[in-house]
Amino acid sequence: MNFQQKFHKPTEIEASAPGRVNLLGEHTDYNDGFVLPTAIPLRTTVQLGLSNNEQHHFYSENLDEYANILDIHHTPSGFASYIFGCIEVLKKQEYTIPFLNVYVKSSIPIGSGLSSSAALEVATLRALRQLLNLPIDDVAIAQLAQQAEIHYAGVQCGIMDQMAASLADTDHILFLDTRTLERRLLPLPSGTEIVVIDSGVARTLASSGYNKRRAECEEAAQLLRVKALRDITEVEAVEALPELLRKRARHVVTENSRVLEVLQGVSSQRFGELMNASHTSLRDDYEVSVPVLDRLVAILQKTPGVFGARLTGAGFGGACVALVTAGEGKAIVTKVLEQYELTGDRGQILVPIITR
Ligand code: ADP
Ligand code: MG
Repeated sequence: MNFQQKFHKPTEIEASAPGRVNLLGEHTDYNDGFVLPTAIPLRTTVQLGLSNNEQHHFYSENLDEYANILDIHHTPSGFASYIFGCIEVLKKQEYTIPFLNVYVKSSIPIGSGLSSSAALEVATLRALRQLLNLPIDDVAIAQLAQQAEIHYAGVQCGIMDQMAASLADTDHILFLDTRTLERRLLPLPSGTEIVVIDSGVARTLASSGYNKRRAECEEAAQLLRVKALRDITEVEAVEALPELLRKRARHVVTENSRVLEVLQGVSSQRFGELMNASHTSLRDDYEVSVPVLDRLVAILQKTPGVFGARLTGAGFGGACVALVTAGEGKAIVTKVLEQYELTGDRGQILVPIITR
């Protein structure tokens, strides 16, 4: 299936956006802290053309789902809500958007924590910008994409995913201050590449665990009399807290300082050490790891050519990310997965792309 076959007209405009993985700065965004995502070489492509009638027509190749939007005053459900949301947020900016045919295809696994949703939004907005010559920059695209996800897809998300999809590329890491939106593009540490392996363990406890951690951080900030834990810069300051909150706060404070250390410029070796320290902190202080993730991270960390590895995303399952010697990614993930699966677990290589 392609655009022509689906809509019986050629594509007018095509745009794409990447998925992302967060290298450092985990569970810091809701504490007004710092994050360090990078784009991955998996992308979502959105093709657009004008509709023949007064209806939007959306098709996703990945889902093989078609949505016909007859009533533009009613937000559709499912994948269509993301595309519809992008159109609506532009209309709210007083732009006139015509009725459209939209064709979506993607190499990003959906729902694996690589942010297929932000890639879909950013690709859609880029395509609309191109089609209609809209005077909006990449930061505005990220902000509009976030609005679409919150108000139309109904997902309370931060700004990291959309900023990464809109501003980062696979050679650059995006440093983002989630409070001020100050940002900087940093080169990937020299001589390295990123690999991502899914542990195959579903993030079953993720949402309840996530909400609990958020509440604990808020409580810790209150006790320390700051707006958010981001305002604590000396790790000694958390010592006054009761034990559980002390551990949670210590993760956030040390994680922020790890991200800020990268900003000063570090070697690939040091970057890897900071990732390893991040995992230890997520495991022991923040307690969002699970034994399988620890095992996968340990295998990665022991493998020659790996600078550092940690769980990525909210935890309780999901994927691990590692920084490895450039050119060795494929060999490394193949070997690591083999070892990981010896005990019956089933993982999946997400990055790099390996065609068998
Ligand atoms: P992720 O971690 O991948 O962003 P989310 O749950 O945030 O997971 O977003 C996944 C949702 O985004 C899907 O359920 C779907 O509605 C939408 N989506 C993302 N990519 C596509 C695609 N290629 N085709 C259709 N819908 C997509
Ligand atoms: Mg998402």
